[in-house]
Amino acid sequence: VAAEAPATPAAGGPAVILGAGYAGLALAREVDRRVRGAFPVVIIDRHPVHVLKTELYELGEMAKPGAPREKWALPIEKALDSREVEFRTGEVEAIDLGAREVRYGGGSIRYGSLAICLGSVTAYYNIAGARENSYEVYTLAGAERLAARLREVMAESPKLAPGKRPRILVVGGGSTGTEVAAEIVTTDWREVTGDPRVRDPGVLQVVGREPFLAGFPQGLVQRAMDLLRRAGVLLWEGANVVKVEPGRVELEDAGSIPFDVLIWCAGLQVPPVVRALPGPHGMGGRVKVNENLELLDTPNVFVAGDCADVRDAKTGGMIPATAQAALQEAPVAGRNLVHRRRGEPLETFRYRPQGVIVQVGHGKAAGTVRKLTLWSRPAALLKALSEREYAAAVERSAPPPSRGSL
Ligand SMILES: Cc1cc2nc3c(=O)[nH]c(=O)nc-3n(C[C@H](O)[C@H](O)[C@H](O)COP(=O)(O)OP(=O)(O)OC[C@H]3O[C@@H](n4cnc5c(N)ncnc54)[C@H](O)[C@@H]3O)c2cc1C
Repeated sequence: VAAEAPATPAAGGPAVILGAGYAGLALAREVDRRVRGAFPVVIIDRHPVHVLKTELYELGEMAKPGAPREKWALPIEKALDSREVEFRTGEVEAIDLGAREVRYGGGSIRYGSLAICLGSVTAYYNIAGARENSYEVYTLAGAERLAARLREVMAESPKLAPGKRPRILVVGGGSTGTEVAAEIVTTDWREVTGDPRVRDPGVLQVVGREPFLAGFPQGLVQRAMDLLRRAGVLLWEGANVVKVEPGRVELEDAGSIPFDVLIWCAGLQVPPVVRALPGPHGMGGRVKVNENLELLDTPNVFVAGDCADVRDAKTGGMIPATAQAALQEAPVAGRNLVHRRRGEPLETFRYRPQGVIVQVGHGKAAGTVRKLTLWSRPAALLKALSEREYAAAVERSAPPPSRGSL
């Protein structure tokens, strides 16, 4: 705990939390636990559900007829289970830091303290045609659209010319691209469509110029690549996509690749309302915060999760945009929000990595947990367990485990 003297007196007005994802929900619960109705707490999200974003790669499951949406979307009211926290649905349109006001859903609210936890959206890097011609999995609606399209393309596959199969192209060599490519190639599409004539898809993952799974521990990378290749995913390394047209991507080395379905997993950026905030922004528009997770030069405004540029207090390196990091940042940001209002010293955020596991198809994964490399079934079981633990904590309205979903 750092002893930093508060710069401003406690602010009046409600504490307003924007976003009820991993960071926002955990932050709201922390503030609620500390405050117990001493001042109003309002949380705003465009959806009345908390989306289990870390599980949105489960496209085979989602593509099954009648797949229950509740598997990936838990009601926020139930997750909060507190009469002291008011949940409001609405699209956040603008944040006015000067006037201490948020415009959302056609109305507005003035705040005493603010927490910005609006997550991230897909980044297309101004690549012509990328947005228009691709699918994404960073939102529940996006993943559902993709699952429906995959089902449709697979169902049509018996009509293809002999020897041809559906061409699925996944752009992005990070964990999301890997999980999505492996999921598609290991899904039993005959079972999903109910048609035994359905052909297996050909899945190609365009890794680009960055190394495959850049930034992940070496043991994990090797195991993941091995599992991916054995599952049947082809990797295309060394060239970035520069243009997308319907049915075809162009690479920077002048080559081109045809596709039936293109899935864009190539990067993240903050939502436009966060990008519009004044002050310094880091990679992908993430807003810079100090070691207390408070917006630079703006007391009483805290940022946590994917939309924050949080630095490791020891190394100065950027904390990754993961649910795990969001769930560690949120309680600290929540406590600091309360400390500020009470004129108490603020806490310094310290990141404690708990390990990472990448799912590589049904029942298989590769991970590094406590310096140990795990792979195949044990890694998949541990990942499934951590996902289940997180969802159960949200449903019980209990504090989420800080490792979140590994
Ligand atoms: C397929 C996939 C697999 C992943 N796997 C893992 C994993 O295994 N482990 C891990 O740690 N991380 C994983 N991640 C990353 C993880 O999901 C994110 O880092 C995490 O969701 C970040 O939490 P957050 O609270 O910052 O944002 P989010 O969880 O995205 O929450 C943001 C919230 O803000 C709301 N919102 C956004 N804009 C507005 C607006 N303008 N108005 C109103 N509401 C708005 C959204 O509806 C959402 O509820 C994965 C991500 C994907 C896509």
